[in-house]
Amino acid sequence: MAVQLKDKDAYQRLNYLYQAAHCVLAQNPENVELARFYCFTQKTIARRLVLRQDPSVKRTLCKKCCSLLIPGITATTRQRRKKRKTRFTVVRCLSCGQSKTLLNDPDYCLWAERPEAQLENQKQPDPGPSGKKQPKGKKPDVSVSSTLSAAQSTAST
Ligand SMILES: [Zn+2]
Repeated sequence: MAVQLKDKDAYQRLNYLYQAAHCVLAQNPENVELARFYCFTQKTIARRLVLRQDPSVKRTLCKKCCSLLIPGITATTRQRRKKRKTRFTVVRCLSCGQSKTLLNDPDYCLWAERPEAQLENQKQPDPGPSGKKQPKGKKPDVSVSSTLSAAQSTAST
């Protein structure tokens, strides 16, 4: 818990800088340099403290010049395809020309979006493999189902 508390300030700072960059571009879209400075600072903090940022955040930052990529303002977004089947989203930074290519695959699922990556879906660690061993008899299920059926029968009657 202490480690999480220690990094909490850094995460708050990353979030603040990211929002500040959006705020700057929302007020004056030509002020790309200030937004870039904020994002550069955010990237530097994340690198020095080895903090993992979400892919949704990283995909809106230019890899080369640390500019905040907003489609239509600081970046262009185009759909490209190769060999008819595979389609890509190409986000191109207008400041430096660096482009990032993202594959459009409806079946692809990020690790962070998978159900087993969510903290509330993770199983609590067992105290030990031999700590408590549930008997594999069907008695509890039968009793539950029987009580359920009994309740249903009583409810129906
Ligand atoms: Zn760039």
